[in-house]
Amino acid sequence: MAHRLKAKLGKQASQPVCGVLYSPIMPNPREPSHIQPGLVGVEFPGVNVDRGGNVTIDTEEDAWLPTRDNPSLENIREIPRLAAFLVKLNLRPTFLTTYRVAATPWAAEIIVQQQTNTSEVQAHLHPWNTPPLREPSVPRNSMLNDLDEGLQRAKLETLTELLTEVIGRPPHAFRAGRYGCDCKTVAALLATGYRIDTSVTPFIDWSGTDDGPDHRNAPLGPYWLDGSGPPSVPQETGPLLELPLSVGYSRRPFSRWSRAHRVLDSVAGRRLHLPGLARRIALVQKIVLNPELEDVSSMLCLSERLIEDGVSYLHLTWHSSSFLAGLNPFGATPDAVAMLYQRIEGYVNGLRDRVAIEPLTLSQFGARIDRARHDERFGGSRSVSSLGRSEYP
Ligand SMILES: [Zn+2]
Repeated sequence: MAHRLKAKLGKQASQPVCGVLYSPIMPNPREPSHIQPGLVGVEFPGVNVDRGGNVTIDTEEDAWLPTRDNPSLENIREIPRLAAFLVKLNLRPTFLTTYRVAATPWAAEIIVQQQTNTSEVQAHLHPWNTPPLREPSVPRNSMLNDLDEGLQRAKLETLTELLTEVIGRPPHAFRAGRYGCDCKTVAALLATGYRIDTSVTPFIDWSGTDDGPDHRNAPLGPYWLDGSGPPSVPQETGPLLELPLSVGYSRRPFSRWSRAHRVLDSVAGRRLHLPGLARRIALVQKIVLNPELEDVSSMLCLSERLIEDGVSYLHLTWHSSSFLAGLNPFGATPDAVAMLYQRIEGYVNGLRDRVAIEPLTLSQFGARIDRARHDERFGGSRSVSSLGRSEYP
């Protein structure tokens, strides 16, 4: 769940400032990137990884706030409508599914139907209601990274076993609820057979929210993890593929605006007011590729900036509970839900007018990168473009 995500973004402007929004995507030679080390996605030298587009949906309970009290699941009844809509748009969604959804027979039946050639079911862990529940039910324990290694692993095993039973194969992609992942989570994922994590939110620091992780310096594109350090820091030889959310700014270079936001958000910055900096920052918007938070123009603007920066994929995400009116702030009314559908369609059509992005499920995208990495290491000559779309075994 992305509680307080909107607040975390610290949006300074209601509209993006994006002068080339309706121009072809072209690098701006007057605005070199100067991205600091660690801020850009890991490159795969010599490998032509095609641009891929991921759509991930946190498929979860109705309750927007963490609770152990028998949460209802009525929003899951909206999944078939949403899935049909996504198929019509030729997207390939990944439904990251929680324990409570998978443990409820009628909801699990709906979820299983999303396991097709063009969509898939993977894992989403809400630690507050995934057994074992031996930790106190307090806000800090809703962040998986705040739990000890044994408990993280035990909850992950419970979720994994149930999803395996429900969908007929082990899940191999994962997202932590509230994006609360740490090196212990990565170790638990590797020990449980996972190949992909998608819990990292570049440019966002959750440490002020129930001691969540700080992802501010995370790469913007795919990279590898081995559990030896924070998930926001690439570990080149690691076996776990991290596919972070798409986050950035309406102007480049991202590093400059990230630093400026940090200064203004700091205690010293607030005390000094820094009016000049505030004025400049007001022209720059932090954007998450998420229709719950952003309009079509903002999402297209971010996509252009990321592609200009050489990021090889775009990652669109939202929560299932936003698609039943009245459950959370993003889908508060039927009109708000209708607007979410419109934003997704508007964004996808707008993006297709600008650039070729191939929609892929998480495992399809992961398989491509995995194979490309293998070929790179062992000197294979197979073109990544020619690879099949097989999922991980
Ligand atoms: Zn969630």
